[in-house]
Amino acid sequence: MAKSIYFFDDPEPVGRELLGGKGAGLAEMTKIGLPVPYGFTITTEVCREYYRLGGKLPEGLREDVIQSMHKLEERTGRKFGDTNNPLLVSVRSGARVSMPGMMDTILNLGLNDESVLGLAKLTNNERFAWDSYRRFITMFADVVLGISKDEFEKVLDEVKEKEHVKYDAEVSAEGLKDVAAKSKELVKQVTGKPFPMDVWEQLFMAIEAVFKSWNNQRAILYRQLNNIPDEWGTAVNIVQMVFGNMGDDSGTGVAFTRNPATGEKELYGEYLTNAQGEDVVAGIRTPKAIKEMANEWPNTYAELTRVASLLEKNYKDMQDMEFTVEKGKLYMLQTRSGKRTAQAAVRVAVDMVHEGLIDKETALLRVSPEDVNHLLHKRIDPNSKGQPIAVGLAASPGAAVGTLVFSADEAVAEAAAGKNVILCRPETTPDDLHGMVAAQGILTTRGGMTSHAAVIARGMGKPAVTGTEALKLDSENGVVQTPGGTIIRRGEVVTIDGSTGEVFLGALPLVEPEVGAHFEELLSWADEFRKLGVKANADTPEDAALSRKFGAEGIGLTRTEHMFLGPERTQIVQDMIMAETTEERQEPLQRLLELQRSDFIGILKAMDGLPVTIRLLDPPLHEFLPQPEDLAKELDEAKKKGASDTEIAKLERLLRRAIQLQEHNPMMGFRGCRLGIVYPEIYEMQVRAVAEAAAQLKKDGYNPRFQIMHPLVGTEAEMKFLADMTHRVVNEVLSANGVQLDYKVGTMVEVPRAALVAGDLAKYAEFFSFGTNDLTQLTFGYSRDDAEGKFLGTYVQKGILPEDPFVSLDKSGVGRLIKLGVTEGRATRPELEVGICGEHGGDPKSIEFCHEVGLNYVSASPYRVPLARLAAAQIAIKEKRGEIFKDK
Ligand code: PEP
Ligand code: MG
Repeated sequence: MAKSIYFFDDPEPVGRELLGGKGAGLAEMTKIGLPVPYGFTITTEVCREYYRLGGKLPEGLREDVIQSMHKLEERTGRKFGDTNNPLLVSVRSGARVSMPGMMDTILNLGLNDESVLGLAKLTNNERFAWDSYRRFITMFADVVLGISKDEFEKVLDEVKEKEHVKYDAEVSAEGLKDVAAKSKELVKQVTGKPFPMDVWEQLFMAIEAVFKSWNNQRAILYRQLNNIPDEWGTAVNIVQMVFGNMGDDSGTGVAFTRNPATGEKELYGEYLTNAQGEDVVAGIRTPKAIKEMANEWPNTYAELTRVASLLEKNYKDMQDMEFTVEKGKLYMLQTRSGKRTAQAAVRVAVDMVHEGLIDKETALLRVSPEDVNHLLHKRIDPNSKGQPIAVGLAASPGAAVGTLVFSADEAVAEAAAGKNVILCRPETTPDDLHGMVAAQGILTTRGGMTSHAAVIARGMGKPAVTGTEALKLDSENGVVQTPGGTIIRRGEVVTIDGSTGEVFLGALPLVEPEVGAHFEELLSWADEFRKLGVKANADTPEDAALSRKFGAEGIGLTRTEHMFLGPERTQIVQDMIMAETTEERQEPLQRLLELQRSDFIGILKAMDGLPVTIRLLDPPLHEFLPQPEDLAKELDEAKKKGASDTEIAKLERLLRRAIQLQEHNPMMGFRGCRLGIVYPEIYEMQVRAVAEAAAQLKKDGYNPRFQIMHPLVGTEAEMKFLADMTHRVVNEVLSANGVQLDYKVGTMVEVPRAALVAGDLAKYAEFFSFGTNDLTQLTFGYSRDDAEGKFLGTYVQKGILPEDPFVSLDKSGVGRLIKLGVTEGRATRPELEVGICGEHGGDPKSIEFCHEVGLNYVSASPYRVPLARLAAAQIAIKEKRGEIFKDK
């Protein structure tokens, strides 16, 4: 086996793949001269080997560890397990990517009944020594022996009560000695064995426990949620302990080099004096803001500021740092790229370009398309903000409304029943993850801005309010009490505002977000790099205007059937369907023509100067009629009530027609252009409405640009028929109005045959738009609605499908048809414009594919337009850098 251990100052360059994120960070900080305690990393390869061996430490590792500990002893001048001058270490996990709170840490390892006395002598601080010892017993018992921390909390609480004190830091040395003794007793009771006094045994048990923690439930869930491969494994870092609990000139904290909520350039974070390790993130005591350190310990604060700026220069990114101050001296314990809100991601990226730290390309790659999506978060309508019932910390931005639930399981159950829920907890732990996933927002009564709840919610892009200490929470009985005395029970609705920390009773109206200057700037850079055009799917003038604001360069799909909805219009459409002759159909068609014309005027005006693709009627006609069962019931009732003969005759006719239009397989039935060919008057009406709208706008001085798109075309003859009809009607309208306009006729490619005969279709079609919703249904032979409800979930779970093909484009099947369609279509008509308007047009991975096969544009729903602009830029940049064909 290759080298299994690396010291932090090892000159060999090894990356995070082997050292894990934490190990790599410690090594890097050591190399750039920052104050880091000495230590070494056991590689992730050892963890993988541990699992390959079925849970056994590989041969030779013990000797390597012992040798490395001796080196650490030499460097520190202390001895592991010594009664006079003991070396203590922390044993910490560290995977390749950060998995906050998912795996385990043990501090103060090397303490036993002997060395605790040595520590007391060494530091001349008996209280400190016993505090360290009792913490170690708890952590070791929890992580290695599987005994819940709560049991030890009880032991501590008893002693606190006995000594009449409130805080841990107030317990006396004698009291802590008592806690240590009782804790050891507890271990013996539970495990039947005494707490291990051999420090080497402690060390190897701890190393194994860290390897094992890679496969605990919460780590597995976290990996699934974040697409982290199970094979990676974790490294183990063994580091000389430094102590934040040595008095009021010591402490521990976490800080970000910039504000992770807003992205503002300021040192940001929290610390606790006279505290150790996880005390800050665990949210047990509410910590102080880092700014206070400037007054309390000005020199340390200055040093931390210097370290922060060095770290940013080195990593060229915002960093998240863990540190400990031991008697005034700063030690860095960890650095990693800081998790941030979407807002901060954008701001940091843009600011760093202005500061000359990174270039635009790097900035664009730093922000994930989903982040851009998060930015479009809802807010509480500023006009309707009431009095908050409590205010906590603004831990993760955005507003959410939901019924209160008090446990993660409850959150999951209620969400499954279709409710929006707010998960309310004293604080969250990794065991609450499933509930946080299910909730709309998170509310905690304890914990700071870097508590588990805050960090995870920001990562998920979910609103969170933490540290709402004014609320009295009784989770067991499902009630919270406000400072004003109001009692809120399980199931009542609240609104939380993660941008202000406010909590409100009842459901406040939420409004859509506005995006700021940094966002606009980043997206304008995206536009410089992307090759793909970005259009929107929009059916109304409002959606058209919104998508234009989000940067859409036109409309890629207007679904005209959406204009046939609403009670008044449905009635006209029904009249059209019920007409028995072409003549009878004229009257309702004329009324529809007028309505559609004004719809198109609105849309073309909102998109003035930009192309608007209008898709003619697509769904089967029976969708506009009531269900036959309902009609039959209505008919029965009408008869019972003694309704008039004409009324009954009308219902009978409607029922007959509804039955006649019923289909076994509506998805593959009488829909799309098939309607337009059998009832040409319907499509002619729609084409006329578009052309008349455009002609009028042109006369009014606008610049309307329309493209008529025919759905579900599968044969050359269909295409020819439809194109001829469209040109005839448009030309009639234009010449009647005496205007000239450029327009296009094209087709959706959404049945497999269309892709196969694309070369023939392109003789008549001037553009193609891949309707990948239908194309996916018809290529797989899955009916989307049935598949998603019944078997797709299982398919994905069992790995039969890598992912839901309706969410992310199936490149090898559907994608192959797309490639064929593009190639053959362009062979016939080199200037053929090709885009995509299925749901996949707003999915980052599918957008990459669209770029790779050379589409001209993607079309996505309005809110996904910014995401699509960024995703399109990212793939163009990756291509430019030669990065995209790597794993194909
Ligand atoms: C499609 O099939 O991909 C499409 C965009 O059309 P619709 O979803 O309206 O069927
Ligand atoms: Mg379709």
